Amino acid sequence: MKYITLLMIGYFFVSFSNPEIKNNTSKTVFDFSVWISADAKRTNESYTEEFKKYKDGGIDEVLINTNTNPKLLSRLVPLAKKEGLKVHAWIMAINRPGDSIALQHPDWYQVSKDGKSCFDNRPYVDYYQWLCPTRKESREHVLHLVEELAKVEGIESVHLDYIRFPDIFLPISLLPKYNLVQDVELPQFDFCYCDECVKAFEKIHHKNPKESHNTSIDMEWKNFRLNAIKAVVDDAYKIVHKQNKQLTAAVFPYPEMADHMVRQRWDKWNIDQVYPMIYHSFYDEEIDWVGYATKQGAADLEGKKTKINTGIYIPGLKNDAELKEAILLAKQNGAIGVSFFDGNALSESNLKTIKETKASLK
Ligand SMILES: [Zn+2]
Repeated sequence: MKYITLLMIGYFFVSFSNPEIKNNTSKTVFDFSVWISADAKRTNESYTEEFKKYKDGGIDEVLINTNTNPKLLSRLVPLAKKEGLKVHAWIMAINRPGDSIALQHPDWYQVSKDGKSCFDNRPYVDYYQWLCPTRKESREHVLHLVEELAKVEGIESVHLDYIRFPDIFLPISLLPKYNLVQDVELPQFDFCYCDECVKAFEKIHHKNPKESHNTSIDMEWKNFRLNAIKAVVDDAYKIVHKQNKQLTAAVFPYPEMADHMVRQRWDKWNIDQVYPMIYHSFYDEEIDWVGYATKQGAADLEGKKTKINTGIYIPGLKNDAELKEAILLAKQNGAIGVSFFDGNALSESNLKTIKETKASLK
């Protein structure tokens, strides 16, 4: 993930290149995957070279952001599979910057508590262009894109990223970058107060959130938004399973944290696997926090079918010893794999460490 100009996968801002399903029957002891972004202009040879590099470094799977382009994905799947890699179709789901269809419908975009639409007034960064998860037309648009990716032959899963609301609280290490203090929920970062959301909420709760004394302690309004995201995920699950694929997602570190920061409660979703982005450096945490957050998520999923792959932010690691430690902490605390952000950040030395650590697990 990259910071305002960075992050992505979902996380939130990471550079814009800014987050599966695995077949449990063919799963190795512990899976290694990497998030990458594709460019249609690159040649097949160039991709084959990149995929070979990952495979040689112990990577088993690639999560590819094609900017929601099923055609490009169809071209890359056989290339990756030829090198022995499984492929996941990574999609920026609710935040859809530059979506040429959505941009024709200004009313599809989320509206902040202070009445401004993401269509032309973006919170934090220009690529924050969030669609309303409640409005029929915008959610159907997102689900249609999910279906088109799910139809691509040979993929393991459709991998949802940015499947949440905009950050009501940014990770602590990013606040200075925006010169922000976020001690309370600020209206310009609080979404979605569009007419459709207000109408749907009023239908259930007989009150208007815009007239709430304090929306930050209004549990029904919070829960309404958690459920709006869950409903999109649960519908996506049915769609991708109809295509015999799985549903996976890049999510915030653990459920309570995801709820607090971005109104995302992934332990309640109908989904096959989650990839919590346990990017310790975003939160000024140390490497042991990778184990802490993985354990918390695994405990919250106990008894459920959803499995965890710990997301590791490569630029946040001090050295290869930390990389090895992060992998071992993920495994010891209940993850079935790790995923690295991102492919471009992986050095030769990182790949050597990954391969050696993988061999030590057997
Ligand atoms: Zn809305």
